[in-house]
Amino acid sequence: MKTAGQIVDTVIRPEIRAMGAYSVADAAGMIKLDVMESPYALPDWLAREIGDIVARLPLNRYPVPSLTRLRALIAATMGVPAGCDVLCGNGSDECIQYITAACAREGAVVMAPAPSFVMFQMHALFYRLQFVPVTLRPDFSLDADAFIDAMARHRPSLVWIAYPNNPTGSPFAAADIERIVRAAPGLVVVDEAYQPFAADSFMPRLAEFPNLAVMRTVSKISMAGVRLGYVGAAPEWIREFDKTRAPYNISVLAEAVAIKILENKHVIDEQAARVLAERKVVSDALSGLRGLTQFPSAANFICVRIDGPPGAGTAVFDGMRRRGVLVKNFSGGHPLLQNCLRLTIGTPEENRAMLAALSASLG
Ligand SMILES: *Cc1c(COP(=O)(O)O)cnc(C)c1O
Repeated sequence: MKTAGQIVDTVIRPEIRAMGAYSVADAAGMIKLDVMESPYALPDWLAREIGDIVARLPLNRYPVPSLTRLRALIAATMGVPAGCDVLCGNGSDECIQYITAACAREGAVVMAPAPSFVMFQMHALFYRLQFVPVTLRPDFSLDADAFIDAMARHRPSLVWIAYPNNPTGSPFAAADIERIVRAAPGLVVVDEAYQPFAADSFMPRLAEFPNLAVMRTVSKISMAGVRLGYVGAAPEWIREFDKTRAPYNISVLAEAVAIKILENKHVIDEQAARVLAERKVVSDALSGLRGLTQFPSAANFICVRIDGPPGAGTAVFDGMRRRGVLVKNFSGGHPLLQNCLRLTIGTPEENRAMLAALSASLG
């Protein structure tokens, strides 16, 4: 009889077997500044109202797949222009899956700047599409001419641009994104996961570009645990993406909780504003530290490069972890991210502890 491992080797595609699962570090007992969550919980009054709502939900029933009320509320509170429609995902990670699935024609090409959000490439691989990364400049700025040249060669069906970029925080220039959207032969999805911390957005401009979709998430604004992402685009696009969606992908729990929080959006807006103000405090403090370079950020994190030979970044990451602070280490990933750490902005107290741990670990 064959072993499970032997059968797996014949059934599972080699490229899947070769990958690692998306890894999330254990943060028990640590100051957790690794994955861009909001550091703020909901106020008690809102948490209690949510509790009452959840207690009355008909959990024996499936969610209503059309999500009419949630989608209308997202459109109204998030500035989706009239005439555009909304797709909801169980996190925007799931929206990436749906859009990739819908675009997965035989031989289609997916492009994105690199380094950027890894799920763009992962879903291209899952759906057997060719992924063509276009490397950022060493200062993490976008070379729009190189990107447009590469599009002319590879004719991508689908282009992803995280705006601002993750894990670098780079704002990119709106004019560059606009040129790429105009030159693209297919769909461009601008991923605005960090829009609440950025100066600019393409959501209000959707009607200008027939090949543009704008994706966002509530994960970075106090709702990471809810799992809700959304895409705004022309109804012609949303209609097609929606066919690849699992019928009941948003649970009644997530839907009801998201509706209640979005009806009180001022609460999470105020929390995001506090994080944004703290980004400046952290950035100013980083400017005073020797032994690292910080990169401009329009997000709720700052990417820094530790000076020194390969391994210097990991040594500082380990030093911070020993001091009880978990950040994200990018050494061993994309070559441009050698010695880079990504510091999520937390509460003022957490940030002080993070900066102290960083400073001590720099030696
Ligand atoms: C965090 C993040 C996402 C995924 O967010 P979820 O909605 O939590 O799945 C998507 N894109 C970028 C660029 C992100 O940083």
